[in-house]
Amino acid sequence: MGLIRLCFKYNLPSPHSIILDPQPIDKWKITVKKSVTVYWKEKLQLEASSKSTLGLLSITNNENLKKASSLVPLNTNAVAKHRLQMRILSGTFTFQSERARFYGEDPTCTICGDAEEDATHCLSDCSAISHIRDPHLKKISSLLPPEFGPTSSKETALLIIAPSNFTNNKEIHQLCRNLCNKIITWRQGAINHNLNNPPLPSLAGNIPSLHFPPISVHLPVLPPSIPTPHPPLLRLKPPPL
Ligand SMILES: [Zn+2]
Repeated sequence: MGLIRLCFKYNLPSPHSIILDPQPIDKWKITVKKSVTVYWKEKLQLEASSKSTLGLLSITNNENLKKASSLVPLNTNAVAKHRLQMRILSGTFTFQSERARFYGEDPTCTICGDAEEDATHCLSDCSAISHIRDPHLKKISSLLPPEFGPTSSKETALLIIAPSNFTNNKEIHQLCRNLCNKIITWRQGAINHNLNNPPLPSLAGNIPSLHFPPISVHLPVLPPSIPTPHPPLLRLKPPPL
């Protein structure tokens, strides 16, 4: 029964038909491998399409990702920056929106406070990071033909983390790696700064008014003053002549 179920699950010929029409072992192995791969690929793609963290990842076409990896120079710095891009693209980098889902925190961007922080907000929209993002994007746009440039916030974020969706230009890939790294590094610095320097409470209305009890001072009653007798005056005898 287990064998019948497995064959049905992976869309393979039934055991009965195999007994009636046996195949060479090598051919059968290839058929099984192909059927199992197709089953799991389709299942994972279906599940991935429901994950919001994979919103920027093209799960049906990963050829661009293979191309992107081949454009990364083999030095530690470039590989680390490319790895960061892949973490964001694959949804394994934790933004505030994920912290909200997993830890029940506020999803609002802790740096600008304007909107929910996800990959698109951080990389493309966060107003607090525009001083880093804008000059780099200007340079990248000058190298990218306008018809191939991003047309929305989501596409701008995609350009920064997966430029192979737009071009194979090595210089643009390097600029995008550096920009992604600068944004995430600056973001982390800003978060650490905010954690170490929590905002001071507003002076208006947050400090409870203090009511002190009236102070009563009871001074001890002093006895009537008694005149202090003066010590007798010393009379010095004149020195003997
Ligand atoms: Zn923000």
